[in-house]
Amino acid sequence: MSDTPLSGQVALVTGGARGIGRVYALRLAKLGADVAILDSNLRSFEDFELEKAAMHGETTMAEVEGFGRRACGLQVDVTDAAAVTAAVDDVVRQWGRLDVVICNAGGGVGAIGETTGSLMSDEAWHAVMQRNLDGTMFTCRAAIPTMTAQGSGRLITVSSIAGARPEPSGGYAHYGAAKAAIVMYTRYLARDVGPHGITANCIAPGYIRTGRLAPIHDAMGSDLLERVALRRFGTPEECAGVVEFLATDLGAYVTGAVIAVDGGTL
Ligand code: NDP
Repeated sequence: MSDTPLSGQVALVTGGARGIGRVYALRLAKLGADVAILDSNLRSFEDFELEKAAMHGETTMAEVEGFGRRACGLQVDVTDAAAVTAAVDDVVRQWGRLDVVICNAGGGVGAIGETTGSLMSDEAWHAVMQRNLDGTMFTCRAAIPTMTAQGSGRLITVSSIAGARPEPSGGYAHYGAAKAAIVMYTRYLARDVGPHGITANCIAPGYIRTGRLAPIHDAMGSDLLERVALRRFGTPEECAGVVEFLATDLGAYVTGAVIAVDGGTL
C-alpha cells in the first residue's frame, strides 16, 4: 500500500478541533486526504493544557495543511440538522466529493451521581442524546447522497465502552444509552448503504488519554486500570489506527462492525 492511500479523497471529521477527533483528522491528512472539520468551537483545544501543548499549528486545520493537504473548518453544532446538511453540502461544493466521514463529536454532561436512570433530568437526557445520537444520524444522512452518487464511501461512527456495559454505579446512563444506540444505528446503516458501495462501521474507544480526561485519569488511575487487561490508558493515535484500517483498502470488506479500542476493558 502507498504511504498516501487516501490521496485525492475528501474526509470530514466532526468534533475534530481537539481530542481524539483532531488526531483522526491528522491521520487522514497524513494518509493523503483533504480534511474538513466540523466543530462547535474550532479553538476548543485552548481550554485544555495538554491539548494546547500538543498543537503543531494555530488550529487543527493549519496542522492538516502542514501535511500539504487542503483543510477547512466549519463552526457547526451537530445537533442542528439544517446546519450539518449545509456544512456537508458546502464541503462537497468546494471539493467535489466526500469519501470518509467520522461522526466523532459527542460526550456526556452532568455528574455521575446525578445521571443514573432514576435521577436523570430531561435536560441532561436530551442534551446527550442529541449531541451523540442525533449528531451522528444528521451527519451520516447528509453525507450519504454524495457517497451514493460516487458509489463509494466510508462512514465511521463513534460509540464507547459505555455503550456496551454500564458504569458500576449506574451513572451516565444517558451517555451509555446514546452510545449503545449508535452501535445499532450503524448496523442498520450498513444494511442501508452497502448496496451503494458504502461501508458503515463503529469504533468503541475505552479509556483514552486526552487533554480533557488526563486529570481524571491521574486522579482515578489505578481504579480504572484494574478493569483494563493491558493495564494502561489508550491513546488517540491508537484509535486513529482503527480509523486508518476502516478508511483505507485494508477495511474494504468490513461493514456493520463495532471495533473496540479499549485494551480489553471489562
Ligand atoms: P472531547 O470532548 O475532548 O472533544 C470533542 C470535540 O467535539 C470538541 O471539540 C467539542 O467541542 C466537539 N463537540 C462536542 N459537541 C459538539 C456538537 N454538538 N457539535 C459540534 N462539535 C461538538 O472528546 P474526546 O476526544 O474525548 O472524544 C471524542 C469522541 O470519542 C466522543 O464521541 C466521545 O464520546 C468518544 N469517546 C471518548 C473516549 C475517551 O476516553 N476520550 C472514550 C469513549 C468514547 P466543544 O469544545 O465546543 O465542546
